[in-house]
Amino acid sequence: MKGKILVIEDNEQNLYLVRFILEQNGYEVFAALDGQSGIEMAASLKPDLILLDIQLPLMDGYAVARNLRQDPALADTPIVAVTSYAMTGDREKTIEAGCDGYIEKPIDPDTFMAQVEQHFIIRDQRSGGQ
Ligand code: MN
Repeated sequence: MKGKILVIEDNEQNLYLVRFILEQNGYEVFAALDGQSGIEMAASLKPDLILLDIQLPLMDGYAVARNLRQDPALADTPIVAVTSYAMTGDREKTIEAGCDGYIEKPIDPDTFMAQVEQHFIIRDQRSGGQ
């Protein structure tokens, strides 16, 4: 197992595809369908990376990211926004909320894994690892 990835995503079809790609690549996948359960799962799981949909019911992804960043145990956990908001300014908004990066929907199955793993590389460089 390469690591634990928490996917916070309310759309079952998106979740299915993301889970399929991640599991095919050797990751253990945990899913939350809304922000509040995602925050609770992140606290108990301590995942290696979090994929965060921005358009979520009740609590949007920006609020979820801000909340996750208040947990010191998750300070180094990459949070990657996955969202169809492709307009200028939205990328900045995700970064301001505490996300490390941004993957656009619809995801491209051919490049998705590399986009995700790039954040492991950045995290490892930041912590002085290889
Ligand atoms: Mn959504």
